[in-house]
Amino acid sequence: MYSFHYQKALSVAQASAALARSGESRLLSGGMTLIPSLKHRLIQVDELIDIRGIPGLSDIRMEGDQLWIGAGATHQQVARSPQVRAFSAGLADLAGLIGDPQVRARGTLGGSVANNDPAADYPAAVLGLAASIVTSQREIAADDFFKGMFATALAADEVIQGLRFAPPLKSAYAKFRHPATGYAMAGVFVAQTATGWRVAVTGATDGVCRWSEAEAATGQSPAGLQFVHDGVLDDIHAPAAYRAHLVGHLYAQALANLS
Ligand SMILES: Cc1cc2nc3c(=O)[nH]c(=O)nc-3n(C[C@H](O)[C@H](O)[C@H](O)COP(=O)(O)OP(=O)(O)OC[C@H]3O[C@@H](n4cnc5c(N)ncnc54)[C@H](O)[C@@H]3O)c2cc1C
Repeated sequence: MYSFHYQKALSVAQASAALARSGESRLLSGGMTLIPSLKHRLIQVDELIDIRGIPGLSDIRMEGDQLWIGAGATHQQVARSPQVRAFSAGLADLAGLIGDPQVRARGTLGGSVANNDPAADYPAAVLGLAASIVTSQREIAADDFFKGMFATALAADEVIQGLRFAPPLKSAYAKFRHPATGYAMAGVFVAQTATGWRVAVTGATDGVCRWSEAEAATGQSPAGLQFVHDGVLDDIHAPAAYRAHLVGHLYAQALANLS
């Protein structure tokens, strides 16, 4: 056992100031990744800053034609929100496919996006829907946010407040779950947006990425379209060729389910 300080932040500004003050500090949101990481000594902190009580941090609301989801919204809240489903069925479906009921009851959108696990589901929707990540300091476009395995554009004292999504014309998500964890062996989010098609792939490479060849196929599923990427994962769970094949299959599945 080792000791650390615990504090409950009452505002995003307070959480950000606390992060800036302490060297080894972390925000605690759903705790679904952070707590096991602490228990297994994968990380060590001097200060844990609990953001779960910040008023309004888990709000889900429409702002004109845009959808706002607060960083503290749990996967369950997102999956069950009629507003989210009306806005993007693909996003609501994705949230309902994360982990198991216990994980969905605790895990949050902000925690998932900040953690940027290469097998996480939300990064695919955030990139596929070209969302903006609104932080304590700025607004970051999804295309500039994800920086590869567990890496993001967030500064050490930056707190995600929520995400803003522009309305898609159609969207869908297809995922092949790892049978033990539920994480994505591969997942493909397809969105038809006002500016064109976007296809985001998670689970298959060392970080979420767009699949430009599929985007250029403008919603068609031409035979022979291959997922080619330098960093397709090849590990004990699946060889690279299998994962690449899975991506093509999931892309076709998502296209068939667009709504
Ligand atoms: C058994 C199990 C199965 C899972 N299956 C899946 C799955 O199928 N798909 C999937 O996508 N995920 C899965 N997860 C991950 C889970 O859904 C959570 O999204 C993830 O653990 C992080 O969210 P959290 O709210 O728990 O964050 P925490 O664990 O509290 O925090 C994670 C990291 O994000 C930082 N952070 C948290 N909130 C913010 C914020 N607002 N601003 C800046 N930084 C922040 C924390 O400091 C920490 O570094 C699974 C987890 C478990 C334990």
